[in-house]
Amino acid sequence: MQYNVLGDTGIRVSQLCFGVLPMGPNQFGLSPEEGGELIREGILSGINFLDTAQSYRTYPHIRRALDSLGANRDEVVIATKSAASTYDEMKAAVEEARAALDREVIDIFHLHAARVDANVFKHREGALECLVDCKARGVIRAVGVSTHSVSAVRAAMDVGEIDVVFPIINKEGLGILHGTKEDMEIAIQEASLKGKGVYGMKALGGGNLLGDREGAIDYVRNLPGVSSVAIGMINHDELAMNLRVFNDLEVPEDLAEATVRRKNLIVQVFCKGCGRCVEICPNMAMEVVDGKARNGASKCILCGYCAPVCPEFAIRLV
Ligand code: SF4
Ligand code: SF4
Repeated sequence: MQYNVLGDTGIRVSQLCFGVLPMGPNQFGLSPEEGGELIREGILSGINFLDTAQSYRTYPHIRRALDSLGANRDEVVIATKSAASTYDEMKAAVEEARAALDREVIDIFHLHAARVDANVFKHREGALECLVDCKARGVIRAVGVSTHSVSAVRAAMDVGEIDVVFPIINKEGLGILHGTKEDMEIAIQEASLKGKGVYGMKALGGGNLLGDREGAIDYVRNLPGVSSVAIGMINHDELAMNLRVFNDLEVPEDLAEATVRRKNLIVQVFCKGCGRCVEICPNMAMEVVDGKARNGASKCILCGYCAPVCPEFAIRLV
């Protein structure tokens, strides 16, 4: 496993980052015990970097893994994020993470800004100010932004307070907003040259690129400026598979086949057509037609962001 330092932060992370979204209740619903065991196994196998979010509801899974590590629990680098806009909302999100993870210091705290553009730093000024204050107090180590937008990555380059950028990037350009895959490649490289730490999300395009998993992962891990790649994992086979890829070991065919997981998004009949899923979707992959939400499969990257905002619990990723 290769380890890289994230930009100017001094934070050293494994090239494989454990994405802790899909194991949570928004998607596959592993219990904290099951998820915690898998995260622990990943950490003992060389992964030192976990990525989560307030909205993923996976702090209990991570806490379980950390508690099992004893004195080594603080060596794990944790990145989390919140969609908070105001100072007070972000302050509450930081305190929630610290309490839920039983951590004095959160390593990286992002503005969770999937679909917003370059104006994110103006619109979320209060939340950003809070993160800067938290860093000054030593409660977080680095301030970041997670985004699907090329223009937000470009804007982040000129925001001195931003230490880490977590953009969507994959070999087909799935889900990238406000620019092309090539535009994002250039923005990532330039951000990195300006000292921002960069790690990539959705290398597998939400499962759409599993047909060439190694090619998709290699594309992102070899991009200039990318220090780590977050990949969601929900079982031991997937962990074993990704560890082999990131350790440059051959992947046995049976393991590769066992780990082809194709998710589907289902809108159940009791959808009330409120449109909240349409508003949150970073990819414009949802629309309301005749009073019911409809998913445009070709645009959907199965990120799962729509499921938790549905007041009717009508969206399922299976
Ligand atoms: S948020 Fe839920 S109820 Fe509202 S339109 Fe979407 S699926 Fe339907
Ligand atoms: S429809 Fe839902 S799962 Fe698909 S891209 Fe939009 S938010 Fe993500």
